[in-house]
Amino acid sequence: MTHLDGNAIAGVLEQLFGRDLTLASSRCTGCGAMREVADIHVYRSAGIVARCPDCDTVLFRIVEARDRMWLDFRGFSSLQVRS
Ligand SMILES: [Zn+2]
Repeated sequence: MTHLDGNAIAGVLEQLFGRDLTLASSRCTGCGAMREVADIHVYRSAGIVARCPDCDTVLFRIVEARDRMWLDFRGFSSLQVRS
């Protein structure tokens, strides 16, 4: 399955967090790599799955159905946002 990058879901993340997160630095729980959200690998099908470009760990999942969203961000050990 081909992937997109984090820029492809900038709008969804901004809707959730109220700000542009594409330049935020995320740390992967799998390998510890620090990456800008714009650089992560994104797969879209029934929902959104984001994976670490270095070790393929699932960083987060977002599933949207009717009036609800399910969020699982367990693959981020931290997310550093510029103030
Ligand atoms: Zn990783």
